[in-house]
Amino acid sequence: MNIVIFGPPGAGKGTQSKFLVKKYNLHQLSTGDLLRNEIKNKTKLGLEISSIMNAGELVSDKIVGNLIEKFIANDNFKNKIIFDGYPRTLTQAKNLDNLLNKYKQKIDIVLKLSVSLETVIKRILDRRDQEDRSDDNESTAIKRYKTYEKSSETVLDYYNQSNLLKVINGETSVSEINIEISGLIEAIKG
Ligand code: AMP
Repeated sequence: MNIVIFGPPGAGKGTQSKFLVKKYNLHQLSTGDLLRNEIKNKTKLGLEISSIMNAGELVSDKIVGNLIEKFIANDNFKNKIIFDGYPRTLTQAKNLDNLLNKYKQKIDIVLKLSVSLETVIKRILDRRDQEDRSDDNESTAIKRYKTYEKSSETVLDYYNQSNLLKVINGETSVSEINIEISGLIEAIKG
């Protein structure tokens, strides 16, 4: 089973992905984590993307596309991936379908966590105290939310058309969201 977890920054995608990884023996593919690693390791790519990420904007479709293929091609992860933070644009969504197709896989469900800007800001400021992320401050959080709003609609329409999209209220507690997501996954597992 391959899952896409979708939603604005601070929606709880990472938290819920970690729960799904354990419960269903999956592997989390967070493009944000992969990109942060590049910055941490001061690679050429890391230097190129740090100002974009700190401005709350999206890194190019080509860069993130290159990062995910390695994962999809790896037999150990076959049909066991949670895409966390990818795709974020329609081009990425189509690229993901092409790549999965190439490796004889598909997406089984798209989980969208809906949360308001107010909640996002509160969560991001809380998270700043626990994680050391240079893009977790109020003005970048607002910018990231706006970036999400601009590009998310076409992606959601795309998945809605293929009947893969499930919308979850991300304002409730972590455990309530866990339960709702588990129910949706059990239903498709049959
Ligand atoms: P995240 O950890 O998913 O909140 O991502 C943090 C930042 O990494 C985003 O604000 C973007 O700058 C960049 N990023 C992560 N995933 C993508 C993606 N799929 N496409 C473009 N940029 C991305």
